[in-house]
Amino acid sequence: MSSFYEGRELWFYTGSQDLYGEDVLVQVAEQSREVVRLLNASGLMPAPIVWKPVLKDSDAIRRAMLDASSDDKVLGVISWMHTFSPAKMWIRGLEVLSKPLLHLATQANVEIPWESIDMDFMNLNQAAHGDREYAYMLTRLGVARTTVVGHASQTATCRRVADWIRAAAGFAATNELRVVRFGDNMRHVAVTEGDKTEAERRLGVSVNTWGVNDLIAVVDAVDEDEIDALVAVYEAEYEVEEVLKKGGVRHDSLRYAAREEIALRRFLTEHSAMAFTTNFEDLGTLRQLPGLAVQRLMADGYGFGAEGDWKTAVLVRAAKVMGEGLPGGASLMEDYCYNFVEGEEMILGAHMLEICPSLTASKPRVEIHPLGIGGKEDPVRMVFTADTRAGVVVALSDMRDRFRLTANCVDLVEPPHDMPQLPVARAMWKPKPDFFTSVETWLMAGGAHHTCMSTQLGVEVWEMFAKIARMELLVIDEETRCRDFEEKLKWNQAYYRLAEGL
Ligand code: MN
Repeated sequence: MSSFYEGRELWFYTGSQDLYGEDVLVQVAEQSREVVRLLNASGLMPAPIVWKPVLKDSDAIRRAMLDASSDDKVLGVISWMHTFSPAKMWIRGLEVLSKPLLHLATQANVEIPWESIDMDFMNLNQAAHGDREYAYMLTRLGVARTTVVGHASQTATCRRVADWIRAAAGFAATNELRVVRFGDNMRHVAVTEGDKTEAERRLGVSVNTWGVNDLIAVVDAVDEDEIDALVAVYEAEYEVEEVLKKGGVRHDSLRYAAREEIALRRFLTEHSAMAFTTNFEDLGTLRQLPGLAVQRLMADGYGFGAEGDWKTAVLVRAAKVMGEGLPGGASLMEDYCYNFVEGEEMILGAHMLEICPSLTASKPRVEIHPLGIGGKEDPVRMVFTADTRAGVVVALSDMRDRFRLTANCVDLVEPPHDMPQLPVARAMWKPKPDFFTSVETWLMAGGAHHTCMSTQLGVEVWEMFAKIARMELLVIDEETRCRDFEEKLKWNQAYYRLAEGL
């Protein structure tokens, strides 16, 4: 898989005006180049920030915003008011900007030069002044943006900028995303339903359904040589159970899993799709529910949702892009069981088969077991336990008049006991702020049972993503209290209806 960030960039716009004279504007340009150099030199940016000429009047600002908006390689715009840039000049530009916006509140110097500061210095270095004029206009126009405050030489500043770039990339990824659904939703299930038209408007994602027969035609056409090659990869990369290995009594099941993987990749490539869903109730003549295939596709950056859950497939794809290159992983997850033992309260998450092996650095086992539902042959799957790391679980629920993201910060932990009879990949976590508050608030929010679990991203990236997409996000973290949360739900109910207008 090639990098999503390959060939992408961020554009850096510096605000000023003509009033200061040419000498000052030369210095403004030099200093803004230095800010860009420092940000890029941090090594944290997933895509390069490209300096653009200083903006001094309304026409130039409008043109700059149109250019950024129309260029597919631009993930977003970073703006810095080096000096005082009268904000009426920004109105026409901001109204046509359709890319994510970051307001960087910084300045050239770290410290005020106490001994030498004079009127010239103060005239040149008045970002604090310019910031306020610009932010007033952003607020007045209701421009969604992230504000980052700090010096470009400071790691905390660079980290926030990098987080925002990742969030902007996540949004670019959903806007380019096509989701293939094989069949519809699992019958009678509520939370996996949703408004696909609204999702296209909000996230730019195109979600469409194909009959499973279309996939089966591709499955049947896979040739044996391709299967030989992929089975060899399985045996090299994983600890494959003896019966599944070449010569084993169930080797044919492994070969069929490989056939499904090859066909799925082919189908998704042909449809330029980076996310998909399956439904165990609608498998046609497929012999197994695809398990291993789905796990390996997720590991390669595909979004996936089970039981027709396209909303979670979108989240997983966004998380894959936002987290690219960072330690940890991202996967479909499902809350299954509580452990209520006092002092050891935690949640067991898993799925029928489809947990992404990016959640572990260990070598997964490839095993075959009955599925228990669906009435098909036993499916092959990877079995492992997710590594202990900090993570975030995020769910996307359709609240009828809007989408709601619910995010819970969690700590993945070592299961306190072995689970030798559990035949699927699993994760065990302790949610923040504590088990009881987390579960209670999650349920109050109507958070789904399917989530995207990411151990690559902090909740800050999701917050920035929600802001860019103008979606509701409820965060459950160390500061969450049930009473405040319940109030927040009520306020949000009113706010999002009002904000949406007529
Ligand atoms: Mn499920």
